[in-house]
Amino acid sequence: VIQICLPLNALGFVYREAKDALVNAEKLFQLLREKPEIDDPPGRPALHATHGEVTFENVNFGYEATRPILHNVNFRVPAGGTVAVVGGSGSGKSTLARLLLRFYDVGSGRVLIDGQDIRSVSAKSLREAIGVVPQDTLLFNDTIAYNIGYGRNGATMEQIIAAAKAAHVHHFIDSLPQKYETPVGERGVKLSGGEKQRIAIARAILKNPPILIFDEATSALDTQSERAIQAELDQLAHNRTTLVIAHRLSTVVGAHEILVMERGRIVERGTHSQLLAHGGIYARLWQLQERTEATAQPDGTVQLMK
Ligand code: ADP
Ligand code: MG
Repeated sequence: VIQICLPLNALGFVYREAKDALVNAEKLFQLLREKPEIDDPPGRPALHATHGEVTFENVNFGYEATRPILHNVNFRVPAGGTVAVVGGSGSGKSTLARLLLRFYDVGSGRVLIDGQDIRSVSAKSLREAIGVVPQDTLLFNDTIAYNIGYGRNGATMEQIIAAAKAAHVHHFIDSLPQKYETPVGERGVKLSGGEKQRIAIARAILKNPPILIFDEATSALDTQSERAIQAELDQLAHNRTTLVIAHRLSTVVGAHEILVMERGRIVERGTHSQLLAHGGIYARLWQLQERTEATAQPDGTVQLMK
């Protein structure tokens, strides 16, 4: 039996279903694999994520039929490129990630990876192609090695250590009395937010997926750890298709496109310099953040000024 230590933001449904409850690993894996809301019959072909281009085409979506959440969302993340999404709490940013992972199906429109509608391929192959570095990392009540190796079936200890080194968490792990065999989670060693995030990064490095989703919330970290982790995220994203849900604007400056969301709509879009020149919401937010450097909200999002 393991306990969910922290919510995994991009997998909000798992948290909702499992919160306050002890779940065993089997059950959790079922939750991760099988979402009753999506239709995933056996025998579906596997996704061929050759380049990793992601396209949202006229996407409309609501969790409940009576309450639309996303309205006609269109964007494309070029293969190897980065699109950043900013916007206030509840504007629909994480919903984009949930749709890309196909935890829910779009109401209308399409989500495509390399031209394949994600509904036409097996959910397993889809999720194998996508690595997620979430706001709060889900750690299993198991060893550190298990928690990193979870990124890839049959990973060897050498591969796990190499991933930990790349995520700059090897020295920390090596300093623990039981090293990679140290139990984490409820009954194990307590890890800081930064250490957990680095383990998530190591997991993603090991998985080596063509597509990445970052739901950044480094606001819980001190500036120094945040900078260090940012550097690791940048390295991981290099030449990989990346969707960044950004809570700090400093992390989106280099994105190929920045989408500003408000109540489920893309209300502004462009590169950093285009958006600054436009003088709209993004430009105001940027000025505000430049001035205060302290706009992070308790939930890790940035407050949009009207
Ligand atoms: P953000 O990540 O921008 O803070 P989300 O995409 O998580 O916003 O949420 C967008 C909207 O969808 C919010 O109004 C939120 O309350 C609602 N929502 C999110 N998850 C669910 C869910 N599982 N069921 C119903 N409504 C949800
Ligand atoms: Mg969110």
